[in-house]
Amino acid sequence: MMAEVMYCYRHPGRETRVSCATCGRPICTECMRPTAVGIKCPDDARLPRGARAGVMKPDQIVKSLLAGVGVALVGIPVISVILGLPLRLLISAVAGYGAGILINRAGGRNGGPLAITISAVATAIPFLVWLAPEILVGTISLFDILAAILAIVAASLANRRL
Ligand SMILES: [Zn+2]
Ligand SMILES: [Zn+2]
Repeated sequence: MMAEVMYCYRHPGRETRVSCATCGRPICTECMRPTAVGIKCPDDARLPRGARAGVMKPDQIVKSLLAGVGVALVGIPVISVILGLPLRLLISAVAGYGAGILINRAGGRNGGPLAITISAVATAIPFLVWLAPEILVGTISLFDILAAILAIVAASLANRRL
């Protein structure tokens, strides 16, 4: 793949083909800092390793949100089936974890608070769609509530920072 010409984010007039290994911003030869894990921008070279974990770039945030919407939409029919199964607690937890992993990957495996929020909301929506009427009339079963909680917790755990 041909490297496209970029401009240093600190010196907009300078062309460069190098970008920071951590944040991906283009950096010129004067700004690049060699580190054990590749060339970095001065901001990231200064930070200890892992300090930027959980910070998503804008496109990763968009992908995470899209994955969240996808999980919520696909989850609606899936959860209706799961709630009718005898092993719904276990299956809900597994499905929630899978949904969380999907959103985590869409966000470049950063995890962190935003990924956790998106995962929890995306997982909660399908349950709410099916359980809201029962919650309103008070006929909700404890198992269904537990299934929802397990799925949401599992989806959140999949996005914790490692
Ligand atoms: Zn950087
Ligand atoms: Zn520069």
